[in-house]
Amino acid sequence: MTDDRPQHPRILVCLASPHSRSRISDELTRRYATDYDIVESASAADALDVLRDASTAATRVALVLSDDLSEDNTHGSVFRFARHLFPDVRRGLVIEWGSWALPRTAELVHSALASTQADCYVVVPRRSPDEYFHRAITELLYAVERSSEQVTPDATIVGPLSLPRVHEITRYLTRAGIRSRVVGPESTEGSDISNSGETAAAGSPLVEVAGGGVLVNPSNADLAEVFGLTTTVPTDSSVDVTIVGAGPGGLAAAVYAASEGLRTLVLERESIGGQAGSSSLIRNYLGFASGVSGADLSDRAYQQAWAFGARFGHTRTVTGMATAEGGFRLTLDRGDEVLTRSVIVASGVSYRRLAVPGLDRYVGTSVFYGATAVEAKAQTGRHVLVVGGGNSAGQAALHLARYAASVSLVVRGPTLAASMSSYLIEQLTAAGVSILTERKIVGGIGTNDELEAVVLRHRVAGDETTVPASALFITIGAAPHTDWVNPTVLRDRWGYIFTGNDMVIEGGRRAWPGERPPAPLESSVAGFFAVGDVRRGSVKRVASAVGEGSVVVSSVHAYLAESRAR
Ligand SMILES: Cc1cc2nc3c(=O)[nH]c(=O)nc-3n(C[C@H](O)[C@H](O)[C@H](O)COP(=O)(O)OP(=O)(O)OC[C@H]3O[C@@H](n4cnc5c(N)ncnc54)[C@H](O)[C@@H]3O)c2cc1C
Repeated sequence: MTDDRPQHPRILVCLASPHSRSRISDELTRRYATDYDIVESASAADALDVLRDASTAATRVALVLSDDLSEDNTHGSVFRFARHLFPDVRRGLVIEWGSWALPRTAELVHSALASTQADCYVVVPRRSPDEYFHRAITELLYAVERSSEQVTPDATIVGPLSLPRVHEITRYLTRAGIRSRVVGPESTEGSDISNSGETAAAGSPLVEVAGGGVLVNPSNADLAEVFGLTTTVPTDSSVDVTIVGAGPGGLAAAVYAASEGLRTLVLERESIGGQAGSSSLIRNYLGFASGVSGADLSDRAYQQAWAFGARFGHTRTVTGMATAEGGFRLTLDRGDEVLTRSVIVASGVSYRRLAVPGLDRYVGTSVFYGATAVEAKAQTGRHVLVVGGGNSAGQAALHLARYAASVSLVVRGPTLAASMSSYLIEQLTAAGVSILTERKIVGGIGTNDELEAVVLRHRVAGDETTVPASALFITIGAAPHTDWVNPTVLRDRWGYIFTGNDMVIEGGRRAWPGERPPAPLESSVAGFFAVGDVRRGSVKRVASAVGEGSVVVSSVHAYLAESRAR
């Protein structure tokens, strides 16, 4: 008789030391044996066989714990081979308790994390049970579950992948933390769902909600409502502060405002998390030594703000603003209006994307928009390309040149002189950065995991060359989301909002009309504040947006007290 039960996913423990291996296996068995098969290997060669066998048997490997980074010519290391066969696998580099004091261990950890071979390090359990060990394991398994396609989905989308709305729905649900999968209309499951009573017109997808009904071509707002995210907003004047945008800056402002007793409304047009929500791993945010996915960080912040009493209007776009009796009137999509005593703008920016085949799959792993400092060390000894001709591209290239084996700057124009400061151009030359002018990227080539090369086309001659690239940093301009902001709010020529003392010198005249000096994050309109990337002069980091979102609330309190006294 054959056993048709689905196989449990595996946890592979590959350690040469029998003592450490059995400590880890015993701990794992005590806690996880009901849901996972725990498999031991004493050598890398043995572990490679285990991985190969699991792949052949279509059994998922969820987690690999190993202290072996040795590479063979065929498969690379155990970690690399595991990621090659199981893209969702998480990999923990095992170190002995207390060995972090040894330079060799520190070097091993730095190199494993910088080369992205391991996702984090895990300390061998010291006692049993060892909750510190289990916390690390649970977080790793949770991360696997969040990214795995094999977990039961909350929604099934029926539609062809050639339909853009299918991708938009998938993206929206993923960013909202809702697991979904797509099935073709011709598949058995697709036709079962279509035959269940709801038939979509050609070109419009269906969404079957687990435990619920079937939606025909739903909007993002329909999806939000079905999954318990409120889209309605209060239309009376009961709000002390309205926060526009739920990226890191807006979420931090929501946590502090709501926790300090302000009646707080957050309006978000797309998904919680903003740009950070699209980052697969934020490594430089305080308190997360192994990094944290932007979606996870945002989800935690959202729950925190909600639990303090902040109200959210999901999928709601602010389209206009005006001053009103006692504060501001914000106009929203679908014709709603919100009256609010003060406003915090945290609407961020969008980086222009390169629409090039073969690149999107590497975003966040080898292709980076806007952020460079955080990734620079990981480029040690590698070949890196930076795209863009502005100062931000030049600074990124300079910073990367400290670590990478080679850095090339890809520029569309014939020279950098028109777009970059001359001191930067000199520094780039001194640092050995190659400037590839009049080129554009037309293709990306790589493995499942990593980009390996890009194809460049000369804009005049039209010839194409393939150049090695382990990473691509794209800084081709960011645009702030401020088109809805009234002209009385002073902005620079790109649309970034002036705040605090920065606005005083614009055009050589005082833009601030008030008697008192402006508060540090206050715009040229009293009671209308700006934080994060949308603010002129901001640092464009998660932590700085969070910092500004937290501190602005004390200025909001001061403004509300002042307006009450008037
Ligand atoms: C791929 C990627 C990776 C990154 N990695 C890192 C990293 O590792 N470390 C780091 O420090 N920084 C990183 N950054 C930068 C960081 O994410 C940003 O600096 C940060 O998200 C800025 O936060 P914010 O709240 O100011 O704005 P945003 O994150 O841009 O959020 C703004 C929000 O406002 C919403 N919005 C806009 N207009 C409206 C409107 N009219 N009505 C309602 N809502 C609106 C948007 O939908 C968005 O959700 C990364 C950025 C990207 C794109």
